Amino acid sequence: MEVKIIPCLNDNYSYLILDKNKKNACVIDPSESMPIIEIIEKNKLNLKYILNTHHHYDHVGGNKELKKKYGSKVVGFNNDKDRIPEIDILVKNNQIWKDENFEAKIYHIPGHTLGHIAFHFFKEKKIFTGDTLFSLGCGRIFEGTYEQMFNSLNKIKKLPKDTEIYCGHEYTLQNANFCLANDSDNSKLKEKIIKLKKILNNNLPSVPTILADEIECNVFLKAKDLESFTKLRDLKDNF
Ligand code: ZN
Ligand code: FE
Repeated sequence: MEVKIIPCLNDNYSYLILDKNKKNACVIDPSESMPIIEIIEKNKLNLKYILNTHHHYDHVGGNKELKKKYGSKVVGFNNDKDRIPEIDILVKNNQIWKDENFEAKIYHIPGHTLGHIAFHFFKEKKIFTGDTLFSLGCGRIFEGTYEQMFNSLNKIKKLPKDTEIYCGHEYTLQNANFCLANDSDNSKLKEKIIKLKKILNNNLPSVPTILADEIECNVFLKAKDLESFTKLRDLKDNF
């Protein structure tokens, strides 16, 4: 499975995943249709599925256009069927969603929104976390509770340490500054920031990140309990 990272809008990432024959594709969270269409046309791909992590416009903005153009099926969380445009296939927590070479486990990870899910391609050790887990950060809590978000992050934390994390936004540098302000003695974090700055200076994406790095460097994953997580999340909102 190959993953193409597609920058969209200001700081969003959509992802195109290709099967082993590099013919069939799925797009994860198409913020807008044009950048996706460009790559599909250039590589003569068959866009079979649109996978949505949650209903926010910057994650579903391309659904309608892409479905119309390619006849793709839209996959989203069953409880969000009224909020995900053009939804066709409803998935549930802990379900395996599978089609030919694509196989992902669905995790319901509420907090940012109540219906947020992640797609875990467990054989390839890749997870698409939308706006729940970012590199060195986590999403704002819009609809859920702090406890839901804390539990959602802990679910992801239990995956194999070499899992690659593909998140919804390029927020890594701002997140890094927040982590540093709250965890200033973390030498692993400092190393990661040096690497990060090189990557960003070359106009490259900071994703994917590896779960092991996040566990060591991301203050939200390092939070020991709900109370310290809540404090950090509040501080970040005003950082
Ligand atoms: Zn969002
Ligand atoms: Fe977003």
